Amino acid sequence: MQKDDFSNSYVVEGKLALPYTYFAGRLGSTFLTTLRDQARIMGVRCDKCGKVFLPPRQTCERCLEDIRDKWVALESTGVVVNFTVVRQQDKHLPRKTPYVLGMIKLDGADTPIVHIIEGVDPDKISEGMRVKAIFAPESEPSILLINHFEPAA
Ligand SMILES: [Zn+2]
Repeated sequence: MQKDDFSNSYVVEGKLALPYTYFAGRLGSTFLTTLRDQARIMGVRCDKCGKVFLPPRQTCERCLEDIRDKWVALESTGVVVNFTVVRQQDKHLPRKTPYVLGMIKLDGADTPIVHIIEGVDPDKISEGMRVKAIFAPESEPSILLINHFEPAA
């Protein structure tokens, strides 16, 4: 039978609602509640090699050390290490296109996070650009507690 061949099946057209609750886990929850309650961006540092991970993770990818409780506060400023311009509109996107999605390495971190960059013409964004986090006044506990990044003065 070929994939998508439903000739021998009884098919009911329609939509299926799948409500669920996402649990961010111990690390993700600490990261998000610190972001929400203190507007602080936290990473984790490996004591053995010194690498600082953002987003936080359980083990160091180099040393395999357990780094779950090795929290360090990071700056809300950083540098664009890569980016793309999102031009295809879709109802699930967080912004109207075109907008910039950047890989941003915060000051004090060794790994980048992906986030929205605003306040700059999508055709003028560049690697190496300095940016700062703009926090959302209110949001669901998600990475969108950082509303976006924008060029740093
Ligand atoms: Zn390490």
